[in-house]
Amino acid sequence: MTDAPTPAPGTSAKSMDDIVALCRRRGFIWQSSEIYGGINGFWDYGPLGAQLKKNIRDAWWQDVVTCPPDGPDGHPLQIVPVDCTIIMNPKVWEASGHVGGFNDLRVDCRETNNRYRADQISVMVSWDTEAGSGDESSDAIQRLFAFTANDQESYEAARKKAEKYAKHIGVKVAKNPATWPLTHAEFEGAFDYVVGPDTERPGTLTEPRQFNLMFKTHCGAVEDEESLAYLRPETAQGIFTQFWNVVDTSRVKVPFGIAQMGKAFRNEVTPRNFTFRSREFEQMEIEFFIVHPEALQPGDLTPTDWYQYWCDQRFAWWQSIGLAGSNLQLREHEKDELSHYAKEGAGTSDIEYRFPFTAPGFGELEGVAHRTDFDLRQHAEHCGQGDRAKYFDQDRKARYFPHVIEPSAGADRGTLAVLCEAYTPDPSRPSGVYMNFTPRMAPIKAGIFPLVAKDGMPEIAEKLYRDLRERWAVQFDVKQSIGKRYARMDEAGTPYCFTIDGETVSGGASGGTVTVRHRDTQQQDRIAIDKVAQFLAEKIG
Ligand code: ATP
Repeated sequence: MTDAPTPAPGTSAKSMDDIVALCRRRGFIWQSSEIYGGINGFWDYGPLGAQLKKNIRDAWWQDVVTCPPDGPDGHPLQIVPVDCTIIMNPKVWEASGHVGGFNDLRVDCRETNNRYRADQISVMVSWDTEAGSGDESSDAIQRLFAFTANDQESYEAARKKAEKYAKHIGVKVAKNPATWPLTHAEFEGAFDYVVGPDTERPGTLTEPRQFNLMFKTHCGAVEDEESLAYLRPETAQGIFTQFWNVVDTSRVKVPFGIAQMGKAFRNEVTPRNFTFRSREFEQMEIEFFIVHPEALQPGDLTPTDWYQYWCDQRFAWWQSIGLAGSNLQLREHEKDELSHYAKEGAGTSDIEYRFPFTAPGFGELEGVAHRTDFDLRQHAEHCGQGDRAKYFDQDRKARYFPHVIEPSAGADRGTLAVLCEAYTPDPSRPSGVYMNFTPRMAPIKAGIFPLVAKDGMPEIAEKLYRDLRERWAVQFDVKQSIGKRYARMDEAGTPYCFTIDGETVSGGASGGTVTVRHRDTQQQDRIAIDKVAQFLAEKIG
C-alpha cells in the first residue's frame, strides 16, 4: 500500500481563511440561512458576489449563445439556448442512468456521524518507513490516519495525530508523511485500524456504502411512490429530452449545440471547501451534436476533432475571464476515471484550477466529455420511440443519433476560482488586499467620488454618476475619507475610481478634469470630465 504515496498537500501563498473572511466582510458570499446557524452545503451570494457570478454567467452566455466562436472549419457555430425545469418526469432519470447509477460510495463515522465520499478518503503514516519502524509486521503500521483529500485542514489534523502516535510508540517521525488514497478493496481490509478524520481512535468508520445523490420530493397532494420526483442533478438531461423539439422548431442542423444554464442539486456526501462542493449549484452546459462516426464522409470533422476543439475553446474562455496563469490546467482523464458513456468516446478532460485548498493539486471547474450517442439513444428507447427518433441528416442522407461533445461548467466553482485568483495581498495599502478582477468580471466598474462633501464637488460627481450609470455598474460615494473609499473599492475589485476635486470645480490650470485612480498600480492621472465615458468604453467595453 505504501508503494505510491501521493505528494503531501502543500501550502499556497493565498490563505483560504482570508479569502473566505473577505467574501463575508464585503458581501460576496454568505452561508445560506446564516441567522439560523446556516445549512451545510448551501451558500448565498451578497450584492458583490451576485453581480460577480452574473458577470460570469453573462460572459458565458455572450460567448457561447449570443456570439459563439467560429468552428474548426471557420464557420460560426450554431448554438441555441433552452431553459428547462428543475423537476422533470422521473423516467428521465431512469433513462439517463441516474436513478440506478448516480451513486457515490460513502463512508460514515459511527462516532461523529460525519459522512465522507469513499473515493476522497486518503490515509497517512507519519513515521519513517525506511528506518524499519513502520513495516507491515510492526505495531506501528496498525494505525492509518485518514483525511479528506484536497483539504488542507483535514490533512494537518491527521498529520498531528500521526505524529503524536508515532512519538507515543517511540518511532521516528518522518519529515514528509507517506500518504495515499485507499481503494475500495483496501478500505474494506483496513478499516479496523483507520483513524477517521474527526476521531482519535481507530475502527469507527463504516465500510463504503452506496448513496444516491439525487434530492427527492413529491409532486401533488399524496406522498407515495407514484408522486416521487427528483431535483435535477445536472442540466444536461433537459437538453437531451428537448433535442427533438429544437430540431423540429429551429433551423439547426448537425453540427449544432444546445446550451442551458441553471440550478442543479446533488445531496453531496461531504459538502466542503466553501462553495466548491455545494448541494445546490449552477451549471452552464453545452451539448454539441455532431455527425455519428458511421455517417462520416471524407473531409468531415471527426468526434476527436470536435472534442479537441472544445477542450481548447473552453480552456481559452477560462483564461479570458482572468484565470490566465499557471493555476489553470487541462487534464485528460485516465481510463479508469471515465464515466459509463465516455468509455467508448474520444475522451474526457477536466479544466482545473489550483485553489488554495487543493494546492498543490487542482479542482475541477469544467468537464469536456465525448458522451457518444448514449443519452439520445437511451431517451429514444425509454420513451418508446426507438430508431424512429433518429435524426435525419439531409446532407449525408443518413439517419443516426448524433454523437455529443459536452462542455459542462460550474458557475459557482468558476466564481470561486475568479475570487481566489483575484485576491492579491498588498500590505502597502490601507485595505491590505485588493481584488484584481478583469474589468469584464468586476462587479463595480468604477467609483465616482467627490473629494470632499462640499464646495460644489458632490453636485458635479452626482451628475457624472447619473450619466455613467445608464451604461455601467458604477458607485457614487460621498462618505468617509477618500483613502477609505479607495480601500473599499480595492476590496470590491473596482478597476477605476474618478475623483472630483477643487480643480474640477474651478476648471483651474487643467480645466474641468478629474483624477482617475487605477486599482492595480494606485497611480492617478487627470482626464477631462467629458472624456470619462469614452475612457470607460475603451477599458471596459
Ligand atoms: P466532482 O467530481 O468534483 O464531483 P463531477 O465530475 O461530478 O464533479 P460534473 O458532473 O462533470 O461534475 O458537473 C459539471 C460541473 O458542475 C463541474 O465541473 C463543476 O463545476 C460543477 N459541479 C458539480 N458538482 C458540484 C458541486 N457539488 N458543487 C458545485 N459545483 C459542482
